[in-house]
Amino acid sequence: MTIAPFDNLSDMFSRPKKMDRDDVTTAVSNTFGCLTFTGDVMLKRLSEEVFRKLQRTMTQGLALDPAIANTVAAAMKEWALEHGCTHYCHWFQPLTGSTAEKHDAFLAPDGHGHAIARFSGDELIRGEPDASSFPSGGIRDTYEARGYTAWDATSPAFILKTNGEATLCIPTAFVSWTGEALDKKTPLLRSIQAVSHHAMRILKIFGSDKGVSQVITTLGSEQEYFLVDREFFRRRPDLEICGRTLLGAASPKGHQLSDHYFGAIAERILGYMSEVERRLRDLGVPVQTRHNEVAPGQYEIAPFFENANVATDHQMLMMHILRTTAPHHGMECLLHEKPFAGINGSGKHNNWSIATDTGVNLLDPRDEAHTNMQFLVFLMAIVRAIDIHADLLRASIGSAGNDHRLGANEAPPAIISIFLGEMLSDILDQIERGQPTSTKQGGQLDLGAHTLPQIPRHSGDRNRTSPFAFTGNKFEFRALGSSTSIAWPNTVLNTIIAESLDYVAGRLEEEAGTRPDHGKLEDAVQTVLREIVKDHRRVVFDGDNYDEKWHAEAERRGLPHLRTTVDALPTLGSKKAVKLFAKYGVLNERELRARVDVLWKQYNTTVGIEARTLVMILRTRVFPAALRYQTEVAHAVAAAQAAGVDFEDTWGQLQDHVRLVDELRAGSTLVAREEQQAEGIEDAERRGLFCRDKLIPAMQRAREAADSLEAVVPNDLWPLPTYSEMLFKR
Ligand code: ADP
Ligand code: MG
Repeated sequence: MTIAPFDNLSDMFSRPKKMDRDDVTTAVSNTFGCLTFTGDVMLKRLSEEVFRKLQRTMTQGLALDPAIANTVAAAMKEWALEHGCTHYCHWFQPLTGSTAEKHDAFLAPDGHGHAIARFSGDELIRGEPDASSFPSGGIRDTYEARGYTAWDATSPAFILKTNGEATLCIPTAFVSWTGEALDKKTPLLRSIQAVSHHAMRILKIFGSDKGVSQVITTLGSEQEYFLVDREFFRRRPDLEICGRTLLGAASPKGHQLSDHYFGAIAERILGYMSEVERRLRDLGVPVQTRHNEVAPGQYEIAPFFENANVATDHQMLMMHILRTTAPHHGMECLLHEKPFAGINGSGKHNNWSIATDTGVNLLDPRDEAHTNMQFLVFLMAIVRAIDIHADLLRASIGSAGNDHRLGANEAPPAIISIFLGEMLSDILDQIERGQPTSTKQGGQLDLGAHTLPQIPRHSGDRNRTSPFAFTGNKFEFRALGSSTSIAWPNTVLNTIIAESLDYVAGRLEEEAGTRPDHGKLEDAVQTVLREIVKDHRRVVFDGDNYDEKWHAEAERRGLPHLRTTVDALPTLGSKKAVKLFAKYGVLNERELRARVDVLWKQYNTTVGIEARTLVMILRTRVFPAALRYQTEVAHAVAAAQAAGVDFEDTWGQLQDHVRLVDELRAGSTLVAREEQQAEGIEDAERRGLFCRDKLIPAMQRAREAADSLEAVVPNDLWPLPTYSEMLFKR
């Protein structure tokens, strides 16, 4: 049996099946995913029966048969040991936003002076890490340390090689002893199920459910990042501690010439990218594109899309590999949303769609009117969801880091709207007016048979400024921050869409019954679509989202404009949100509140750490350097005076310098004071407000004084690598 190189969904959609057996494919398949326990690895090591059972869980989401756990564990162990693994771990995604792993040795003493390799079904299925130090948002007190990890058999186990050490990693969900989610995977899985359930109802109404056992959420997220030379990174405590520069004068050149975007990739960078791709390929993460991004020193990598759960695990792995590969090439990879002020920041474009498990993309307009109608129903259900829950979607991407880029004319504004493109918007016009008669392209419709227009495939245009753009056969949610785990935004997205699919399915059933004939269905679709267009069209905007005029217009339309994280987070605790997440079984009230709690803490803690780091750098590096230079200038003034020459200019320079140094000192004192005050505020929301309104502006002012000094202090005295050094050394 030949295993396709991409043993996942994108393969199913993107490549004709007959290519599976060609030579190139076979050659690739031998290396692709060689460090994952999937495909041919499983085939070779498991009996046909066990293989099929496991496969059913992996691809159809059926419950795992516990009886096979021991067999699978034994096969996994053998495979891992052959690859030089000494340890295994349950790999999970706590609320910190990163991944967690606690390694257990395979070898244990056998009691007779020897060692045996142990790893049973029990150890595969369940782990019990001491979870007391992970954020739980109050779900669990420290003395109730118990947390469980449970094997997620739908995401392939993999071997992570770090510096020659190999560890078997088993993707798991992480829950408390009450079964409440303590991680990002559990609610994501629940939200995927909710989408599937209600999308299936719609397929049933259209009679498109034959042979379909579930609807799959598909994800491909483009990742932007910066690379800086390691030598510079090491000399910048702000980069080391906070992942972004907290000060730094602008480089004379930024991206004004647009000469970096899509430019020829420098040799060292290409070497790095190739190694990243090789490592990812071994881990079964299919990489599709690589290129230079807008800012100097900025790049992008995009995977082939996969089912949302695996794509999310793979996204975490991608960030890990990006970070850990950079030092091999003398660099550091910065995933922060805004490593450098004044130039483009980094985001993560979340390409999202839904498909049947038989491989039909439900957001791909088809040629026949019938499936076309179905397409419009799914499309408009999504429009409805985004309009009703724009606030939650906005909140799902809120973080201290992302606040630096949203709305800064490099990323979409914090107003969530949808781009549909001229042609689809025209169709909405027609639906609103009554019977659609034609497509924008001028193709005439046969009104006798079809009441909805034909939609050419990939009809979507591009709009780089829209936070949520339809791109022909998927939506691109473009407002995610680059360092974020995609699990939470997608959990929210799936949940609000599940709610809308539920509503639309309910309305169609009401109008036409569960198995309507074509005529009845057409009428029902017309009615329901017209209602949705009427009520929710306001969220559709095809123009320039950066334009100030749009911001005013959006406010007129009543769209929420939640400018910062602090504005957005409270919406997650609203009654509407609590009800929504509970209704679709994604998060109960306690679980949701816990998450919001953790998000506040993360925001406040991040700002606090940045403030303290800034004060440290200003006091111990910038201030002493500025004083040294002040002394030099003062000596020069004295010497000039002694020589009896006109010292007007030098004297002025000294005065200017002393003033800046004063500002710097006052600035850093203020930051330190505000930071102390923030620390003292118990209530997380109030503290967040204080951070946003007092502490961050104080940091900004202190930074301005430092940046002005940087422009005059001689380079050999300046204690930090400069923007131009960091951005342009390749
Ligand atoms: P762009 O032109 O928007 O920069 P890229 O080619 O960089 O696009 O990335 C597009 C991303 O969208 C890829 O990760 C791709 O796999 C993903 N994608 C394509 N089709 C789908 C789909 N049906 N569902 C989810 N993601 C998809
Ligand atoms: Mg791209």
